[in-house]
Amino acid sequence: DAVLEVAGLGLTIGGAKILQGVSLQVARGELVGVIGPNGAGKTTLFNLISGVHRPTSGTVRLNGRDVTATSIAARARAGLGRTFQTSSLFPRLTVAENVRLATQRRLGGSLSVLSFPRRGDAASREAAEHLATVGVSHRADVAAGDLSHGDKRKVEIAVLLAMESSVVLLDEPMAGVATGDVAGLVEVIRSINRTGRTVLMVEHHMDVVLGLADRVAVMHHGELLTCDTPEKVMADETVQSAYLGEAGAGVS
Ligand code: ADP
Ligand code: MG
Ligand code: MG
Repeated sequence: DAVLEVAGLGLTIGGAKILQGVSLQVARGELVGVIGPNGAGKTTLFNLISGVHRPTSGTVRLNGRDVTATSIAARARAGLGRTFQTSSLFPRLTVAENVRLATQRRLGGSLSVLSFPRRGDAASREAAEHLATVGVSHRADVAAGDLSHGDKRKVEIAVLLAMESSVVLLDEPMAGVATGDVAGLVEVIRSINRTGRTVLMVEHHMDVVLGLADRVAVMHHGELLTCDTPEKVMADETVQSAYLGEAGAGVS
């Protein structure tokens, strides 16, 4: 059964149809790649799923519950986590502090930096575990703003682990990541998916999408063209012409 279900999702802003009739069901443990040219509506879809925007039409269901009218925070508590195209870490806090803050938020504690738990307490041990899972333990005491793009993305995933997100939306996780760091980040994404999390990932690197995705959703002009296995999607003529129709926005 679907952990995430969007039905007839549409968004119109100032008369412009940004998204139209998008329906998609994602099963528990699936990894769905979301591809499409720039401006296709991929980030908008994530914004509607996570509650940044309310849709003009359609519904979003999370674990069977209609969350269409709920806040971003309520969806986060219900297990929906996301990363953004730009980093959402607090740049002047350390890596460990960023992850501990997420743990505290989940536990309902104070968000004050002044009330940070001390090293060695439960929240800190948990943060250390998450940093180990994503392979950045050696950067725990570095200011998050000083990390490489690849390490930032790993810490953002550690934050989602700390929030106990069961459905994770990753918006272009490989953007800006050095070539040599791509494989490590792919492994982290594969591992959080293998350990039971459902993942939706917008990504332009097709080798990454094809290497990770159970299914690939193709967006174009605010519509979902298809969502199918990578093999079928790559062989789909409508998909191919949609890409070839956009000079410079093709599969890269
Ligand atoms: P993608 O992530 O696929 O590149 P987006 O979802 O960011 O595309 O944007 C889809 C289209 O919607 C673009 O043409 C963008 O300019 C427009 N758009 C997105 N958000 C807004 C907004 N809040 N107001 C007006 N237009 C928007
Ligand atoms: Mg999987
Ligand atoms: Mg985008």
